[in-house]
Amino acid sequence: SGSHGHIAHADATASDGGHTLSEVIPKKKKLVLLGTGWAGMSFLKNLNNPTYEVEIVSPRNFFVFTPLLPSVTCGKVEARSIAEPIRNIIIKKNVDISFSEAECIKIDPQNKKIYCRATIDSHSKGEEEFAVDYDYLIIAVGAQVNTFNTPGVMENCHFLKEIDDAQKIRKNVIDSFEKASLPSLSDEERKKILHFVIVGGGPTGVEFAAELHDFVNEDVVKLYPKVKDLVKITLLEATDHILNMFDKRITNFAENKFGRDGIDVKLGSMVTGINENEISTKARGNGKTSSTPYGMVLWSTGIGPRPLIKEFMKQIGQGNRRALATDEWLRVEGFDNIYALGDCATINQRKVMEDIAEIFKKADKDNSGTLTVKEFQETLDDICERYPQVELYLKNKQKRNIVDLVKEAKGDAARESMELNIEEFKAALSEVDSQMKNLPATAQVANQQGAYLAKCFNRMEECEKNPEGPPRFRGTGHHRFHPFRYRHLGQFAPLGGEQTAAELPGDWVSIGHSSQWLWYSVYASKQVSWRTRALVVSDWLRRFIFGRDTSG
Ligand code: FAD
Ligand code: MG
Ligand code: MG
Ligand code: MG
Ligand code: MG
Repeated sequence: SGSHGHIAHADATASDGGHTLSEVIPKKKKLVLLGTGWAGMSFLKNLNNPTYEVEIVSPRNFFVFTPLLPSVTCGKVEARSIAEPIRNIIIKKNVDISFSEAECIKIDPQNKKIYCRATIDSHSKGEEEFAVDYDYLIIAVGAQVNTFNTPGVMENCHFLKEIDDAQKIRKNVIDSFEKASLPSLSDEERKKILHFVIVGGGPTGVEFAAELHDFVNEDVVKLYPKVKDLVKITLLEATDHILNMFDKRITNFAENKFGRDGIDVKLGSMVTGINENEISTKARGNGKTSSTPYGMVLWSTGIGPRPLIKEFMKQIGQGNRRALATDEWLRVEGFDNIYALGDCATINQRKVMEDIAEIFKKADKDNSGTLTVKEFQETLDDICERYPQVELYLKNKQKRNIVDLVKEAKGDAARESMELNIEEFKAALSEVDSQMKNLPATAQVANQQGAYLAKCFNRMEECEKNPEGPPRFRGTGHHRFHPFRYRHLGQFAPLGGEQTAAELPGDWVSIGHSSQWLWYSVYASKQVSWRTRALVVSDWLRRFIFGRDTSG
C-alpha cells in the first residue's frame, strides 16, 4: 500500500543501501487483545488495518451474546445459539490475527510483556505457560461476580455470567421439579426444593425471575401438575426498589406486575449468609433477621474486578479502585500503549473546574483577558466534546445555548455583546461537573468502546503522520483522536408474559406486548452473525410452537 511504500522509503534512505526487500518492509506492530467478550469482539469486528499483527488471548474461544443468557436458563433459547466461535470472526478479516485459548495471569508494562496460562482441558501434565510481547495491549477481560464476601455465597449459589452458568441453572431448575415430584417426599420438603430465591433486583435478576415465572406458568403447570402449586419465587433486593437504573415508571410497573404474578419481592432485604439449607436476611429498616429454607439461589448483585485487574491496578498505583482507570481515549492512565475497555475499565472523566484556567486561555484567542459571547460560543463545541457533562448540563437545565448560560451568570442585563472575565466564566460553568457519572457496565458501552478503539487503530498511522490534529483542551498538548463518546440507545427490561419495558432516548418509555416485539427484533438484529441470528430466531419460533424443552 501507499503507506507501506512511504515507510519503506524512509527506512531505505536511513540505512546505507544494499538492503533486500525483506529488510525494508517494516516490522508489523504487535497488538495483543485480552478477552473475546463484547468489547473484544467489537474491536475485532471493526479493526481493518492490515499493518498490525494481532494476537488474541482469551480463555474462551467464542463470543457470548449475554443479553440472551437469561433466556437460556429456562430453555427459551439454546446455549449454542448465542455463542459465536471467535475463529469464525477471525477468518473473515484481512488482518493477521492469531488466537490462544489461555488466560492472562500477569501484565508487565515495563517490559511490554504479558504472561499467560493455557486453559484448554487436556490430559497433558502440568499447565502450559507462556509469555507474549506486545507493542500495544488492549485489556478487555470483563469483570467477575461480586459476593461482597457474604458467607456461603460461593459454595451455595448459582451465578449467571457465562454459558456454563446458564446451562447449570437450566439443569438445576428442571432437576428441582423432577426431585419434587418423587413419591417419597413430604410437602414440606417439596416446598423447600421449589423455593427459588433470586438475590439482586437488577436487570439480570429481574429477567431470570420473569423467565422462571413464565416457565412455571406455561410449561410446569402442564408437565408437573402435582407440584405446580408448591412453587415459590422470591426476589431479594437490598435497596428500596428493583430496576434502579430504569425510569420510575418501569420500576413501578415491574414491581406491580411481579406482585400480581405472585413473585415475592422483598425490598430493603440484605442477605447476610447462606448455608446448604437456608438463606439469612436482615431488613434494612428495622434490622430484623430471618432465615428461610430454599431449593436454589441465583446470586446476581453486581460485578467486581478480576484478580488480574486487581493485581495490575496494585502494580500501577491504582490500588483501591473497582475498575481500571483510563483517560477518554481509553488509555490506561500513565501508559501510552495500554488500553482498557468494557466492564474491566472506567473512564476517568476530567472535571471542567480543574481545567478552567486553561480552557479560558485557549478560548480567549485575542488574549484580551475577557471572552466575548462569540469566543465562548466557538469554544463550546470543543468543551462539549472534551467534557460531555457540559452538554448534559445544558440539556438538563433546558438551556438552548451558551447565551442563556452567560445570561444566568451575569444576570438578566446580559447582551450578546457582553464579555466575560474568568470569574464570570467560572460562574457560568460552576455546576456542570455535578452532571458527571460513570458509564454503566453494559454490552452497549463495551460494544461502542470496542468500535471506537478499532477506528483509532485503523487510523493510527495516518494520524502519526499528522500529529497536529485538532487541538484539545488538556494538560498535555495535542491529541489525535476525538475522545470516546457514549451514545445511549436505550435499554430493555423483559418482565415475562411476553411483556417488556423499553426505555428509549428522549424520555420515551413503553411497556407491554409491543415493546416485546421491539425486543425480539432488536435482539435479532444485534446478533454478531447470520448463523446465530438464524439459530436464535428458530429457537424463539420453536418455543412458540412446541414450548420449552425440559429434558435435562
Ligand atoms: P465480557 O463480555 O465479560 O468479556 C470478557 C472476556 O474476557 C471473556 O471472553 C472472558 O473469557 C475473557 N477473560 C476473562 N479473564 C481473562 C484473562 N485473565 N485473560 C484473558 N481474557 C480473559 N448489557 C447490555 O447492554 N444489555 C443487556 O441486555 C445485558 N444483559 C446481560 C445479561 C447477563 C446475564 C449478563 C451477565 C450481562 C448482561 N449485560 C447486558 C452486560 C454485558 O454482558 C457486559 O457489560 C459486557 O459483556 C461487558 O463486555 P466486556 O467485553 O467488558 O466483558
Ligand atoms: Mg471483551
Ligand atoms: Mg460477552
Ligand atoms: Mg466500563
Ligand atoms: Mg477575548
